[in-house]
Amino acid sequence: MLQDAVISEVNPINRPRQMPIFRLHRARTHAGSRSYLGACLVMVMVTFAARVLEATLPVGELTLVFMAGVVVVASFGGPGPSILASFAGFAAYNYFFTEPRFTFRVLQEADLVTLGLFLLASIVTGSLAARLRTRAMALRGSVERITILHEFAQQIARAPSSQAVAHAAVDHVTATMGVEVALFRTFADAVEKIAYSPALAVENEGIKEACGRTIASGEPVIVASNSAISPEWLILPVRAGEETLAALGIRSRAIERDDRRLLEAFASQLALAFERTDLTETLEAARLATETEKLRSALLSSVSHDLRTPLVSIIGAASTLAEGGDRYTEPMRQDLAETIREEGERLDRYVQNLLDMTRLSHGALRPRCVASDLLEIIGNARRRLRSNLAPYKIVLSLPDSMPLIDVDPILIEQLLVNVLDNAAKYAPDNSEILLSGHAESTWLKLAISDQGPGIPAQARSDVFEMFYRVTAGDTQRAGTGLGLAIARGIVDAHGGDIYVQATNPDESGTTIVFRLPIAGQGV
Ligand code: ADP
Repeated sequence: MLQDAVISEVNPINRPRQMPIFRLHRARTHAGSRSYLGACLVMVMVTFAARVLEATLPVGELTLVFMAGVVVVASFGGPGPSILASFAGFAAYNYFFTEPRFTFRVLQEADLVTLGLFLLASIVTGSLAARLRTRAMALRGSVERITILHEFAQQIARAPSSQAVAHAAVDHVTATMGVEVALFRTFADAVEKIAYSPALAVENEGIKEACGRTIASGEPVIVASNSAISPEWLILPVRAGEETLAALGIRSRAIERDDRRLLEAFASQLALAFERTDLTETLEAARLATETEKLRSALLSSVSHDLRTPLVSIIGAASTLAEGGDRYTEPMRQDLAETIREEGERLDRYVQNLLDMTRLSHGALRPRCVASDLLEIIGNARRRLRSNLAPYKIVLSLPDSMPLIDVDPILIEQLLVNVLDNAAKYAPDNSEILLSGHAESTWLKLAISDQGPGIPAQARSDVFEMFYRVTAGDTQRAGTGLGLAIARGIVDAHGGDIYVQATNPDESGTTIVFRLPIAGQGV
């Protein structure tokens, strides 16, 4: 049977609690044949009861006992079994209780009237009770449908993307209705099957083409089966206003009117969900495009400005040296050579940062951690920045017995260079730059504080974003907005964290705080 096959294919995890509607229909037809048998049984029992009660009740009133049996049958079996029960009751009463007994003949006119009235009353009562039962069942069916629809709406409302909506919808319809469904959408003018019941994995070009027609016209299509065994397809449009967003293909032998209405309600709910996710996805794509464009122009302007500034100094100093020859004294020549070296180093740091940034954005920054001495790393960073840091008073406040840290020393050196370079760029000459650290459980917490202008509280988390600079287009200090983004990338890659706070209570000064893992702690 088709239904059996479908039900067993559905993933049981996704199957909601209610009975599939198709199963309910089947249960009803089975109940039909059983209820005729039940009707006979009830009437046999009623006859026994009447035989027992015969001793205490006048014979005429025994018809009430039979009537009660008919009502019972009507309320569980419907109109057919209740009519059968009426006739069975009529026959049993005639056979057992009217004179001459144990024959179907009737001698007395009064008995004939009683029998006729019994039959009439029991048919009327039985059909009334049966109608009540049908109404109650219809009501139960529609409550069930509303519940299924409600659960469907809830499930697809939770789905975060169009693809997730499609899968949730297909799973739900397959499980609750016991039919096979496939959902089609158009992408770049091509119709694609985006979600389907497990049994529909194989491509069916005819159905795909029919779904394309439904999406184009917004009208439902029925694809008749081409063999006596295979079921037909109903293809419903998933419409939001004038636009058809998708086509819902349902494969089933027969779809009852109520079930079709439920499927149409599913399609309407689906349209709402697709409208929501499509909008979110369009907005997200637009946001990404803007972001990429912003990054691109920031990178271009940074490259043109920050590569050229040191180059201009280098070319200027080198030309002066080349052309001036003996006109310059030895200390002046020394000065020019020093400029070339410093600017060359600046260029080198900049290129290093660009490289690190590329590795960070590709997720390729993997630290090679070894037990390292922080003091040694600090020493290397200071050496690289010796001329930038020359005007500052560097103070170290570290525990006497400094634990080794489990880090990639080259990356941590770059991190310190970026942070110290900023301190040297923004803090006034002759001010103090303090490096203080202490162990905190399995971490070493290091803070680098300067006495510069500080970073406004509202920008303290943004400074870790790529290309973010507190004063946009600030040309006073050379910078790219990359230094702290890379610093965060490096700390993250070590599993630590990094943040900014003010150095002084009046909110002046910048302190960059970060944590790195202590070696041998299994972090
Ligand atoms: P930049 O190359 O511009 O210095 P960073 O990513 O290193 O890029 O820093 C981002 C922004 O944070 C800087 O443009 C600057 O405005 C601010 N900033 C960073 N460090 C300091 C500091 N020590 N003092 C003041 N402002 C700072």
